[in-house]
Amino acid sequence: MSFSTLGLSDPILKAITETGYTKPTPIQAQAIPLILKGDDVLAAAQTGTGKTAGFTLPLLERMVQHHQPLKSHRGQPKRHIRALILTPTRELAAQIGENVEMYSRYLPYKSTVIFGGVNINRQINVLKSGIDILIATPGRLLDLASQKVVDLSKVETLVLDEADRMLDMGFIHDIKKIVRLVPKQRQTLLFSATFSKEIKALASGFQRNPSLVEVATQNKTADRIAQLVHPVDKSKKRDLLSKLIKEGGWKQVLVFTRTKHGANKLCEYLEQQGINSAAIHGNKSQGARTKALANFKSNKIRVLVATDIAARGIDIDMLPHVVNFELPNVPEDYVHRIGRTGRAGREGEALSLVCVDENDYLRGIERLIGQKINKVVVKGFEVDSSIKAEPINQGGGRGRRGGGGHRNSNEKNRDKSSQEKSGGNSRNRSRKRSRSRNSQGSKDS
Ligand code: AMP
Repeated sequence: MSFSTLGLSDPILKAITETGYTKPTPIQAQAIPLILKGDDVLAAAQTGTGKTAGFTLPLLERMVQHHQPLKSHRGQPKRHIRALILTPTRELAAQIGENVEMYSRYLPYKSTVIFGGVNINRQINVLKSGIDILIATPGRLLDLASQKVVDLSKVETLVLDEADRMLDMGFIHDIKKIVRLVPKQRQTLLFSATFSKEIKALASGFQRNPSLVEVATQNKTADRIAQLVHPVDKSKKRDLLSKLIKEGGWKQVLVFTRTKHGANKLCEYLEQQGINSAAIHGNKSQGARTKALANFKSNKIRVLVATDIAARGIDIDMLPHVVNFELPNVPEDYVHRIGRTGRAGREGEALSLVCVDENDYLRGIERLIGQKINKVVVKGFEVDSSIKAEPINQGGGRGRRGGGGHRNSNEKNRDKSSQEKSGGNSRNRSRKRSRSRNSQGSKDS
């Protein structure tokens, strides 16, 4: 199967060829024909499967096919928002924005990305100048809609990307408000890592008779990722990491820590070791996050140390190494983390440094992915069996739940500044959702 047999027109095919894609990924092969037909699509596709192109390419093609001549407005073409792509985090929004620009480079459409944490006036000006495709996080979008600077009344296609994560982050009310602002008569595409009960409920509320597409088994990690655990004492983790990076000659490593403070400390240590590093998490300004990511992508820094939320949406071609410096307390986050490597069928390696305190987390992860992960002890880093497991402190609050642990509210609050959220009563809503992880987000205006 090739892209040209999918019925995409020349300007889109030319852009695809220039990106270097030679054939559609499975999600693209399945979703593109359905979306071109005009179906609502409910797709379960994990990150790294090529899902962004899976919805962007047919969305563009439909715009081409239903092309309405852009009416002139004082010499300028008059545009209106025809496609709206909603996504949970700033990084993901920016990433999708880049993809849309790339795929539409030979088409006459204008796209833009809006999210919180950055100057709103510039976004208002861009919106006023006329946009065909809008990529947005829910909070800032509602803010702009309430200021009447964004008109969603002519949206033809609505995409809910990473819908599961949007629900996890407590965006359900914002999404409902946004859906009320777009026409009833529209195409709705819903992408999620899994088909959970909540996602099915969301789909039945917003979609009409959706066609189902599923390419990866629920919660299974991508096949091409080699996973390995290095058992190691907690106090020796950073030395081990430094040794692995130096001796392996690793040039681009994404390292996950559980807390922002931990990310900063590890980053400082690696710098002391002569390994160029930057940390990316919710306490960093948007400018610092964007710069760190750009430097990492262009190989100016070797290591990017990230917390889970900040890492969402990081998409780097052929990222070869992902290291879990600490295992996540939510098993699904492991799948998301290691999905940063081995993207779109390429090979990657995901290492986890696991101390005795984290054995329960490891078991939870292995249960979720349905496989045991190989353990390899590194010489000189043998585990001291006299060290007993201690509850993991998630940052000064409660201990673990049933041995497996979960985030306490302090941790959730600390993470919130890396997320998008509208202001006002969101805090009350979030309190209600305190059972859900990451349920709060920063006011992004
Ligand atoms: P996504 O799942 O949308 O985050 O995409 C993951 C990665 O796959 C991105 O780096 C894309 O550029 C890349 N990609 C998307 N489609 C293809 C394709 N058909 N062939 C090769 N790489 C692709």
